Amino acid sequence: MSKMKSAAAPFRATLQELHRKYATVADGRVATYIPELATADPAGFGISVVTADGLRFDVGDAERLFSIQSVSKPFVFGLALEDHGRERVLAKVGVEPTGEAFNAIVLDEATNRPFNPMVNAGAIATTDLIRGEDHADRFKRLLAMLGRYVGREVFVDSATFLSERATGHRNRAIAHLMLNFGMIEDRVDETLELYFQQCSALVDCRDLAVMGATLANGGVNPLTGERAIEARYVKDVLSIMLSCGIYDFAGEWAFRIGIPAKSGVGGGIVAVIPGVAGIGVYSPPLDERGNSVRGVLVCKELSERFGLHILEAGHAGPALLDEIRPGRRGG
Ligand code: GLU
Repeated sequence: MSKMKSAAAPFRATLQELHRKYATVADGRVATYIPELATADPAGFGISVVTADGLRFDVGDAERLFSIQSVSKPFVFGLALEDHGRERVLAKVGVEPTGEAFNAIVLDEATNRPFNPMVNAGAIATTDLIRGEDHADRFKRLLAMLGRYVGREVFVDSATFLSERATGHRNRAIAHLMLNFGMIEDRVDETLELYFQQCSALVDCRDLAVMGATLANGGVNPLTGERAIEARYVKDVLSIMLSCGIYDFAGEWAFRIGIPAKSGVGGGIVAVIPGVAGIGVYSPPLDERGNSVRGVLVCKELSERFGLHILEAGHAGPALLDEIRPGRRGG
């Protein structure tokens, strides 16, 4: 299964070390506001890294499936951009961080737009923009898009979907507010179902790493060679991930860790080192902002250890690539 080569052993050992170190962290609590999420195993913990040219590394529970939740949002934003172009999408959703909770019932007073596509309001607005003949067609296009990033067929977990649908009153309130302002089309129930389906798609942390590696590789999945998103929209998706991807910790994340990323309340985090690699972490206990506690710690340590902050002079992860391929500079 793994494409790992022996030359890659030092990096594998590094990931094992991080996994051992952070497996003992017992902080955080699994999400309970969607009843099905409360059944997650708090001990589940996986880390995966896939390079932009397709080497993959996994440690821990890297094949345990969980619901993608908000990690889907940047990818759906990318699909909306492909379906409508930048200006039409930006007429419906802004690109400003909010500092508010992800499920805040708030729109920009001046424009009536949701602030950005990573909060629920903006995500529902981008889901509304998914083109298709009808619900079934839009659903198929959504799954096909996720499938291109992941490199396999993606399925929705019915229990999670039903649980979200049964308890999603806040998202309904947000959607109706946006309908009131003409920000979404008059098919609220359909779009909300599609949004709940999108959040309930099943992935493992290897999938998240491949999705990240696809963005790191300019939009082409490095394992399948298939293009998942037009190259010109990749930087739009990454910009939003960097400024708004980690709930109301996004500013601090950009400052300290400096890698475009998105977290979800299922315990997943995807992080992207442009041109270098994608990182996927899975660990369900969340901090008070909704980010995976161990996921944040792993990304922070990888960023610090390998100098991955994208605004650092000489970034592009040379130290990381050196450890992945010790002989790459002919030394
Ligand atoms: N389905 C979740 C919701 O809408 C997604 C939340 C998240 O992962 O941030 O509440």
